[in-house]
Amino acid sequence: MAKQRVGVYPGTFDPITNGHIDIIKRGIGLVDRLVIGVATNPSKNPLFTLEERVDIVTRETSALALETGVQIDVVQFDELLMKFAERVGADFIIRGLRAVADFEYEFQMTGMNYQINPDIETVFLMADPKYQTIASRLVKEVAMYGGNIAAFVPKQVGLEVVAKVEAHSKKG
Ligand code: ADP
Repeated sequence: MAKQRVGVYPGTFDPITNGHIDIIKRGIGLVDRLVIGVATNPSKNPLFTLEERVDIVTRETSALALETGVQIDVVQFDELLMKFAERVGADFIIRGLRAVADFEYEFQMTGMNYQINPDIETVFLMADPKYQTIASRLVKEVAMYGGNIAAFVPKQVGLEVVAKVEAHSKKG
């Protein structure tokens, strides 16, 4: 039997957006098993806790796993991405590339990762143009100012973001 192809899609997913989901759907076509790595990322000061982000990503991707038969594991991590990728037996890392803005950071990160482990490739995927401009940070900003985020995130996620933002604003 051919070896299973394992891809890791890492991110903060604060919250998961339609852009992430589009990348996950494309990534699924390339692998036998997709590990979605949810990074602790305290420096980004996430709106949702790590546990909440893992739960939401799991919920929003479970139907895809059933539909495609591809195993999707949602796993939290708090270590060097390459260490995490090695630990889960990944053959490659999947990243989404939006506009020019993502390029510089991704270019540096991939270059360094290749020096840490040259055997793990990084694959860049582009989302469908209608999802390309979506960013978790902007979704949160729009929600904070009472804007409608329905076009950017799955329905349930939209409700959760609004509830979180309201709870935060009450806390002051
Ligand atoms: P990170 O903190 O690693 O940037 P994110 O959750 O913001 O985590 O993003 C995870 C990955 O998904 C990154 O590769 C990012 O470029 C990609 N991504 C996020 N939003 C989109 C989008 N709208 N289209 C394509 N890729 C995206």
